[in-house]
Amino acid sequence: MTITPEKIKQFESMIDAAQNIAIVMHANPDGDTIGSALGLFHVLNKTGKKIDVISTNHLADFYTFLPGSSRIKVFDYNQKIVANSLHSADLIICMDFNAPHRVAKLEDLLNNTLSPKILIDHHLSPDESFFDLMFSVPGKSSTAELLFEILSKSKYNDLMDKAVATNIFVGIMTDTGSFSHSCNDPATFETGAELMRYGLNVKEINDMVYNNSSEERLRLLGYAISEKLVSFLQYKATYFSLSKEELKRFNEKPGFTEGIVNYGLAIKGIDFSALITEKEEVVKLSFRSKAKLNVNRFARDHFDGGGHVNAAGGRSHLSLTETIEKLETLLPRLQSEYYDD
Ligand code: 5GP
Ligand code: MN
Repeated sequence: MTITPEKIKQFESMIDAAQNIAIVMHANPDGDTIGSALGLFHVLNKTGKKIDVISTNHLADFYTFLPGSSRIKVFDYNQKIVANSLHSADLIICMDFNAPHRVAKLEDLLNNTLSPKILIDHHLSPDESFFDLMFSVPGKSSTAELLFEILSKSKYNDLMDKAVATNIFVGIMTDTGSFSHSCNDPATFETGAELMRYGLNVKEINDMVYNNSSEERLRLLGYAISEKLVSFLQYKATYFSLSKEELKRFNEKPGFTEGIVNYGLAIKGIDFSALITEKEEVVKLSFRSKAKLNVNRFARDHFDGGGHVNAAGGRSHLSLTETIEKLETLLPRLQSEYYDD
């Protein structure tokens, strides 16, 4: 999908027609959904309209330095405020997710709104019937990079500033593992360079996100790698599992398990890594792959999920033990998920 001048015009006129705009992130927000939502917030806030940014859950501590993060309305914290905000919005902009179920507990509220919806996202297979205008570009490193292109081509270009650039940079940085994957397009680095010209200090931003963990979070990572990694070299696969009890022992907070799954891919000969975490009502799965192994279809077919070719997620309503057994049974099938160019 190309970002045509017609689409940009439509984007501008939908915003022009609105007075109360809600920008919504996906549940368990990551750097891309937060950075994209806050980046757009800072731009639209300058138009004099009322702009709300909505999250289902609390942000990880290491994202709270992002300019504007204190303005986010969190459903887990105050359901009434979020419900009012969604109902009074005359335009809803969905950032970095492709279907209403991705907002988890907010799904019913979002489904019950009548206002027009814009999608800005880079996930495969968006739910087209839900959106009135879609910027859906799976080839983009991140939603944040896509947002930067949209804003640059729009009349809002001049409204971008350091706060916008910081948020967008963090979106790209976190979705590409600091510009190391999903960024084979030189344009991603060019966008990084353009953002830096707004006065960003890349080292400082990197330290705020990656060198800002609590000791408990680091110990949980160490425990997962040392005690909970299970490898199946014959299937080039590995997984970690963490029970509710184990997460509690390390005093889990939002974002604690972010990144753990990637460490499985550091092993020579491993192309597939999974992290299975037991949540309150569901078991959550994260998948990562390298080489030409597509985990998006695997997540969709077996765990009611989806995402990207090399990073996807899903869920299971079985117990933790049964989910682990299911995954182990499916590992031989990974062989059929390798693709040719
Ligand atoms: P993570 O493993 O970091 O939660 O998610 C990896 C990627 O898969 C992200 O791009 C995320 O949006 C997507 N994803 C995670 N969980 C789900 C899910 O349950 N359903 C779908 N469709 N996508 C998911
Ligand atoms: Mn993303």
